[in-house]
Amino acid sequence: MTTFNPAEPGARPRLHLPWPRRRTVPGPAPSVQPAVEPLLSAYRAAAVSPPGRAEMAELRRAYAVAERMHRGQTRKSGAPYITHPLAVATILAALGMDATTLVAALLHDTVEDTPYTLGQVRAEFGDEVAVLVDGVTKLDGERWGDRAEAETFRKIVLAAAADLRVLVIKLADRLHNLRTLGFKEPKGRERIARASLELLVPFAERLGIYALKREMDDLSFAALDPGAYTRTRAAAEAALARAGDLGPALGLLRSGLAAERLPGEVSLRPRHLYQLFQDRGGDLTDLRPNDAARVMVVIDGTEQDCYVALGAVHAALHPIPGRVKDFIALPKFNLYQSLHTVVIGPRGDLLDVIIRNREMHRVAEYGIIAHIRDASDQAATADAVAGRRDLGWLRRLLTWQSGAASAEFLDSLRSDLSTGHVPVFTPAGDIVALPAGATAIDFAYALGADTGDHCIGAVVNGRLAALSAGVRGGDVVEILTAPDGGPSGDWLLFATTAQTRVHIQQRLSRERADEASDAGRRTLVRALADHRVDLLAAEGRGESLSIARELGFAETDLMYAALDGGSLDLATLVTRFAA
Ligand code: MN
Repeated sequence: MTTFNPAEPGARPRLHLPWPRRRTVPGPAPSVQPAVEPLLSAYRAAAVSPPGRAEMAELRRAYAVAERMHRGQTRKSGAPYITHPLAVATILAALGMDATTLVAALLHDTVEDTPYTLGQVRAEFGDEVAVLVDGVTKLDGERWGDRAEAETFRKIVLAAAADLRVLVIKLADRLHNLRTLGFKEPKGRERIARASLELLVPFAERLGIYALKREMDDLSFAALDPGAYTRTRAAAEAALARAGDLGPALGLLRSGLAAERLPGEVSLRPRHLYQLFQDRGGDLTDLRPNDAARVMVVIDGTEQDCYVALGAVHAALHPIPGRVKDFIALPKFNLYQSLHTVVIGPRGDLLDVIIRNREMHRVAEYGIIAHIRDASDQAATADAVAGRRDLGWLRRLLTWQSGAASAEFLDSLRSDLSTGHVPVFTPAGDIVALPAGATAIDFAYALGADTGDHCIGAVVNGRLAALSAGVRGGDVVEILTAPDGGPSGDWLLFATTAQTRVHIQQRLSRERADEASDAGRRTLVRALADHRVDLLAAEGRGESLSIARELGFAETDLMYAALDGGSLDLATLVTRFAA
């Protein structure tokens, strides 16, 4: 991050002209800004409906403000700072995001890095933009210390609950920072790349924005392991140079689809390098064209047509049994839908084939962005989107996290976002994503803290099961609850997800604290009775609280608990009350 560095010492950038207002002469835009033109044309090219003149003017105005505020600041590359927000806005424009998002993207670092305030953003660009800018503004590292990163991320997630565009801006921001990582010192480079793979890439995946995920993956990969990255790229390029080998296979698929009168496209799609490296476990020897690329079949047709196409593909080339994955009937945890299969080509090569229609193709690339774009009412709130698109995990994530402490929050977010989740169903058919090895108790807490705290048993696929029972992908699980149930310590023996463990520990420690404070208070009541002091009356007069404060406790309960725990001496306390 660059710090604010005014070009002229003492000359604070201003929003308003420093001299008395002169009569403004109507005329062309104040200054020609050639730098902003690529953004405007990207926006024009990808916008859902042709943008109006007002929106274009708004983008120019936001650019002018951002440019003026960041003037004198530079990126690590030496480029003027404004190139960064401009690039972020351009990434978002290419994704088809709306003008409000682009305005916020242009201003996204002003509040953090310049004297421009959130109040000014609100006054000059409106509430919506201010909410977005606030959502992506980092919390002050000085005030929040070690917790700044976690709390900043929590803030982003909370803001995203109200408006998902906050997360999309954050992703584009990170993508551009990754693109320009080369200018950072190696340590910072590694930290950003690692943090991206841990948190932001999984977020992009969960939101289904593969267009961003792939590039972030590869940039982080290149930063963390340049040697492996270069080797993978060279191997993939060499393999793809022989893509012609797959011509006969593609020809058979095309004629098979044509025979079914299914219009569409059959093409080869290179896998991205990080995925390729991981899938091969780092072994890149003998990489063939069919390893480096997959066959993409995009049908102009309905969901049903995709199944017909699957039949045609299997008729044209022999399928490998058990390798069909139906992500249409059983979607992943994002918006992704496709049919996957593996077939044997004429030369004996195994080919991965992906079948989808145009709509699925668009969503597979842009995920939630495709959805935000379609939302005519602009209600891009997590709840609206989650409700419409079965993104229950998003709603759960956004609601349960509010109670967790910083470190716990980041941990559980990481584990919640980590891959390898399997879909488990509620009796109503809602999908709950759980990591492999999860148990019924994890399922209960995934439904909500309240369900978890009061669960007493489970019904897995129609059979009664213990809370410790493992749940597997495809299971239908119902949780039995009782109003007076409550967590017990042994639940921790079979609770596997961070979210579950955090909840149980919090509940137990709250209960322990309550018990300790009750016990401490009883001890004090008895001791004070000998001195003819009525503790209840002392509490009523506020004496107890002021004694607690004098002794450094925020609440009387904490003082009583300390007494029970032995860190506070009974005689000392009695003297204070009896005085
Ligand atoms: Mn930024």
